[in-house]
Amino acid sequence: MTIAESAERLGFSTRQLHAGEEAHGPHHPRATPIYLTAGFEFDDFDQGHARFAGTDEGFSYTRVGNPTNAAAERRIADLESGVGAVLVGSGQAAVATTLLTLVSAGDHVLSSSSIYEGTRELLRDDLARLGVDVDFVDDPNDLAAWRRGIRSRTRLLFAESIPNPKNDILDIAALAGLAHERGVPLVVDNTLATPYLVRPIEHGADIVVHSASKFLAGHGTVLGGVVVDGGRFDWGAQPDAFPQLAGDRGPDGLTVVERSGRAAFLDLARRTAMRFGPAPSPLNAFLILQGIETLSLRVQRQSETALQLARWLEAQPAVESVDYSGLDSSPHRDLAARYLPCGQGSVFAVTIRGGRKAARTFTDALRIFTRMTHLGDVRSLVLHPATTTHVLRTADELAASGIGEGLLRLSIGLEDPTDLITDLDQALASVAAADILLEAGIA
Ligand SMILES: *Cc1c(COP(=O)(O)O)cnc(C)c1O
Repeated sequence: MTIAESAERLGFSTRQLHAGEEAHGPHHPRATPIYLTAGFEFDDFDQGHARFAGTDEGFSYTRVGNPTNAAAERRIADLESGVGAVLVGSGQAAVATTLLTLVSAGDHVLSSSSIYEGTRELLRDDLARLGVDVDFVDDPNDLAAWRRGIRSRTRLLFAESIPNPKNDILDIAALAGLAHERGVPLVVDNTLATPYLVRPIEHGADIVVHSASKFLAGHGTVLGGVVVDGGRFDWGAQPDAFPQLAGDRGPDGLTVVERSGRAAFLDLARRTAMRFGPAPSPLNAFLILQGIETLSLRVQRQSETALQLARWLEAQPAVESVDYSGLDSSPHRDLAARYLPCGQGSVFAVTIRGGRKAARTFTDALRIFTRMTHLGDVRSLVLHPATTTHVLRTADELAASGIGEGLLRLSIGLEDPTDLITDLDQALASVAAADILLEAGIA
């Protein structure tokens, strides 16, 4: 028996190392091997048939399944308290796979507007082209707005546990309660929180998605995404709403729900991913597994440093505001205390006085922070959302989401906190120096 198979529920740190592991014969490697192969041999004619018929559990082709990818799926499903997971090539692929599994032309999706820009554009532009209507709720904790927005053809609610850049926190249990009252599943993107900080399924979410490119892999080296099925939503209760799961019958005469029970969504999502094709490389799955082995250590330290830096920044006269739910000044402090007792994550926003000009001087003066559009890296990163990720938003949309010209997104890494403060300090000093030169008419 492996540690992963033992009956008692082990702690998070133990499970991030051991959950889902299985023996790999005949040489007994301790690490999960990288099965870098397109396909797998059939012992004989009948086994080939059995693999395709689903009566033999073995692997056939890496787009359909691969032992390294499967090890990552088992580990992430365990950490997120799900019944299983599908690993795909990127976070965007995880969101797209989830949507394509659940919606059909004529359906409706209701989403928080406080979400990753790539997801917002996918929902608004690409789904619309496929005949799926999407509406956005501006304040994700305004339950009345969600209630008003749900229609008879709403097939999922979508939100993020910790949206960036403003580190506003979702009341997962409240939104899950409303979703279930209306017979709709709740999908939560848990990328910024990671299962170390919060497990949305334990608060009622039905499906969790991740960009594994961020904290799970953790080192800024690979892309990956994952869809985790909580296994609790009753698809069978609504065969008209979800015919692909509970109405249509396969060659065996069964619906997906009848065939797969609690794992029905997972099985259909796996088939959707297999057909649309965003398969992950087993090499990337290995690097994601390796990253997960230190997830709790990294996220704990990153959260501690983020809080220290947020407090320091908030006290600087050149800083207009800091959006971090760990701060006493945050309107999300109570939600953070409830959902994120182990830390509020590494990503937050700081708004520098002086608008875009000050933000440019500050950004260019930073020496340790990397100017880059990524987050969850071991290195600290800085980005100006208004001119990069959010550049397609209109001025009104930017104002509505509170993303000003002086706002910068920081993703805190694992450097020594004192070095990061020194770097921020000298960058703020550069902004002040530039102002003095300007006032003197020299610049
Ligand atoms: C990065 C990110 C994505 C997209 O993930 P990729 O791996 O870059 O495709 C989706 N959601 C959130 C919250 C993200 O941060």
